[in-house]
Amino acid sequence: MPREGSGLCPECMQVNLKRIIYCALVAIPISLTQIIIFSLHPTGSDVEAGWRIGIILSHATMLFLMLCFALTAWRLQRVERLLPAKVLLFAVVVTLLGLGVVITAADQLVTSSITPYALVCMGVGALFLIPPLYSAALLAASFAAFYFAIAPGLSPAVLLSNRTNGMATMAIGFGLSVAMWRHFMVDLRQRRQIEAQSKELERINLELQNMAFTDSLTGLPNRRYFDQAVARELSTIRRSGLAAGLIEFDLDFFKEINDSFGHAAGDAVLRQIAALVGKTIRQSDMFARYGGEEFILLLPRTNLEGARIAAEKLRAHIEAHVFSADGQEIRLTASFGVAELNTDPAISCYRAVDQTLYRAKQRGRNRVEVMAPNDPEGSRQRMSAVKAP
Ligand code: GH3
Ligand code: MG
Ligand code: MG
Repeated sequence: MPREGSGLCPECMQVNLKRIIYCALVAIPISLTQIIIFSLHPTGSDVEAGWRIGIILSHATMLFLMLCFALTAWRLQRVERLLPAKVLLFAVVVTLLGLGVVITAADQLVTSSITPYALVCMGVGALFLIPPLYSAALLAASFAAFYFAIAPGLSPAVLLSNRTNGMATMAIGFGLSVAMWRHFMVDLRQRRQIEAQSKELERINLELQNMAFTDSLTGLPNRRYFDQAVARELSTIRRSGLAAGLIEFDLDFFKEINDSFGHAAGDAVLRQIAALVGKTIRQSDMFARYGGEEFILLLPRTNLEGARIAAEKLRAHIEAHVFSADGQEIRLTASFGVAELNTDPAISCYRAVDQTLYRAKQRGRNRVEVMAPNDPEGSRQRMSAVKAP
């Protein structure tokens, strides 16, 4: 978070660079007009001629420098380098204040007006974002130069009046500068706060989304996420005509594991199953915990035979694996149902895989059963699944 007086930050310098360009766009035509007018002005006395040449030279210098400054600012806007931008800003401010003093001093040959100095003090104060300490130093230095530059040739009363007026315009310029700086810093702080808050909101939203779609025990996608993935896959299948494989598996006699080793051990086994299967499948496959000790997989662009082979591999892996919880070794098996996700409604594909899984249970567990969605065997109800002793 920027604090007041925290210096010229990148956002601040981007504004300054833009304003240097705007300032040049205003100063260049003004200087050009002044050069033309003063060049055409008929020569009067020697003093007037000296004044005229002084003004022309000052504006020619201003024109040239402002052109260089604008081009440099334009380039620096793109490269975003802070130090050269700061150097440029101070060069611009010093040049404007310096030329204001020089033109005002030249004007004293023919008039007691200090308009140029007043204009640059207020212009610099209102236009550029400068930390108060720096603007105080720059304006004070310009006033010191102004104080001595206007001395020659003026009556003591006019000199006193001009010096006090010069001091007043310098003070007004400083006031404007501080006000601009404070306003920008408060605005910047608020903008950064809003940015930080919206980032935090985005993070929380993402976290909530993850929680809504993730199973907290295993870290796997949950049923809601899987159903959405299936809906997306169905629209791909309808376009490509390439069916996907659907595998559902249920751990055999899992209740006994809970009863023998405790619920915490059961949880540990479920986590280990998730890790084991996650390592075995392809990256393009979707693996989710469908509920309790039931898991489901979606294998895009995989036919029934391919899905059966994948299921058989998983079954063998689970059977061979030694699970562990609290230093105890646990062995278990799982029963698999395999079906096809095709152009049929998702619900009938789910029903098919569900029924095939329960056929695997009925036929002795620790096995893979495959069925096409329209297989008449599928009409058997889950309820008819008979547990082996
Ligand atoms: P089957 O071979 O017929 O599937 O027998 P089973 O014992 O696995 O089936 P049943 O449906 O009778 O029991 C499932 C068990 O899974 C009971 C339940 O406590 C357990 N279970 C479900 N979810 C969790 C879980 O998150 N953690 C633990 N530890 N156990 C769970
Ligand atoms: Mg079970
Ligand atoms: Mg079950």
